[in-house]
Amino acid sequence: MLYQKKNQLTSWLYDYSGSSCLPDSLLMSHSFSLAALDSVLSAFRSICGEDSVSLGEAVREQHGKDESVHRCCPPDVVLFPHCVEEVSALAKVCHNHRLPIIPFGTGTGLEGGVGAVEGGVCFSLRNMDQVLDLHQEDFDVTVEPGVTRKALNAYLRDTGLWFPVDPGADASLCGMAATSASGTNAVRYGTMRENVLNLEVVLADGTIIHTAGKGRRPRKTSAGYNLTNLIVGSEGTLGIITKTTLRLYGIPEAMVSAVCSFPSVQAAVDSTVQILQAGVPIARIEFLDDVMIDACNRFSSLSYPVTPTLFLEFHGSERSLEEQVNTTEDITQSNGGSDFQWARDTETRNRLWKARHDAWYAALALRPGCKAYATDVCVPLSRLPQIIVETKEDLIENRLTGPIAGHVGDGNFHCLMVVDPSDPEEQHRVHLFTERLARRALAMDGTCTGEHGVGLGKRALLREEMGHMAIQVMQSLKDALDPKNLMNPGKILQPREL
Ligand SMILES: Cc1cc2nc3c(=O)[nH]c(=O)nc-3n(C[C@H](O)[C@H](O)[C@H](O)COP(=O)(O)OP(=O)(O)OC[C@H]3O[C@@H](n4cnc5c(N)ncnc54)[C@H](O)[C@@H]3O)c2cc1C
Repeated sequence: MLYQKKNQLTSWLYDYSGSSCLPDSLLMSHSFSLAALDSVLSAFRSICGEDSVSLGEAVREQHGKDESVHRCCPPDVVLFPHCVEEVSALAKVCHNHRLPIIPFGTGTGLEGGVGAVEGGVCFSLRNMDQVLDLHQEDFDVTVEPGVTRKALNAYLRDTGLWFPVDPGADASLCGMAATSASGTNAVRYGTMRENVLNLEVVLADGTIIHTAGKGRRPRKTSAGYNLTNLIVGSEGTLGIITKTTLRLYGIPEAMVSAVCSFPSVQAAVDSTVQILQAGVPIARIEFLDDVMIDACNRFSSLSYPVTPTLFLEFHGSERSLEEQVNTTEDITQSNGGSDFQWARDTETRNRLWKARHDAWYAALALRPGCKAYATDVCVPLSRLPQIIVETKEDLIENRLTGPIAGHVGDGNFHCLMVVDPSDPEEQHRVHLFTERLARRALAMDGTCTGEHGVGLGKRALLREEMGHMAIQVMQSLKDALDPKNLMNPGKILQPREL
């Protein structure tokens, strides 16, 4: 029988006013009769097969939680469709019975986006894992939602092409579109917003749309409303993405990475701003504070000096690299930076960037048994030195462990808050700190989330950031596409807030 179990996992950082995991069974909350329930399940089974409908507790719990601190909210049932026609038919059944739909990619999200806060049906898209159309000459590819960023790059290995958007986890590309993800390469290649050309989307009532027109993949367009970028970042609240067409890039002729240590946070961040102002087309520029580099040294067996540090990468022809490196070195040295430590060969470069991508786990390893929460503010570049310096002081004053790692070339940085889940007083201090940090970013004309999305925890901050009228427009769009509020309810917009 379907049921929504009140789970035992604690919610220790945020309380979700108005959208806690409901204890009611789906049966009760949707006034289902047993006969109706049986007919829903048999409809699901007849569409995608007996083996693709799971009611098992372990499977439901696995799909009710991402990598965030938000508590597990298991869906009532997990479906594993195989194609867009099945997704559409399953959505129609949910729509007819007013059942919430929660899309699930790989569950690496950091904002509680996959929790079934009102129960309902999880659409796990992992069985749809084909790379469909590769157009090498046009630098684009279309993939199904189960394809991850690493799987795509493995597929592209012999083509001379690659897809550069690289969140630290091996996330699904449609999940990345859903959260508007980015990563270390965004300063040069952009985020998902700049790299998605078209999306196939199943709406709440099962209608299938193509946000740029079926099969279309122009590099630019001014054809009507930008539906692609409405869906990018919508976190499953407007529809289920069943295909994405992505821009690809030629693998650069030459790449070189370097590490540079600085006497202070200010010196490292000032260098970043000056490098960008000088027009160096840097491919990656990542900041790690002293606590973060110490954690990475320990976790990834590195031995960099324990001071504020920049990891840099340059892409281009041999000749252009020389120019980029010379300008960058002049700037870092004028700010008191060390000589560059080079990572030239592929193996050393990969080791360096793996260490950066493992920063989350390195932070967690600082305090075994603790949990991590990543802040995600983003500010205009010129405000970056001030906000990082103030944030560092705030962390020290409030006795908090929060190593800082940032995609500073975009003005985006994370404090990886490592918190003892059994210490409510510490959790409270972390909560106050994260709110202060977000408001500091808003006061500097920035955003509370550069790349992780809003999910559950940032809904109130989104209101402050957008203002009442913009939130109302968002709500109207949601009502137009999903009038029954079935698509991932309780995320991004607070329920019944108007
Ligand atoms: C160690 C670590 C490092 C990370 N580093 C970064 C980083 O550098 N940059 C960054 O941006 N993120 C980062 N993340 C966060 C995470 O990887 C991204 O948010 C990613 O985009 C989530 O993709 P997913 O497939 O796991 O989505 P999920 O976690 O499965 O889902 C996330 C949200 O998207 C919705 N969704 C998923 N698939 C679909 C679909 N097909 N259609 C519609 N909605 C869908 C879900 O309903 C949910 O709301 C990191 C996470 C970890 C654990």
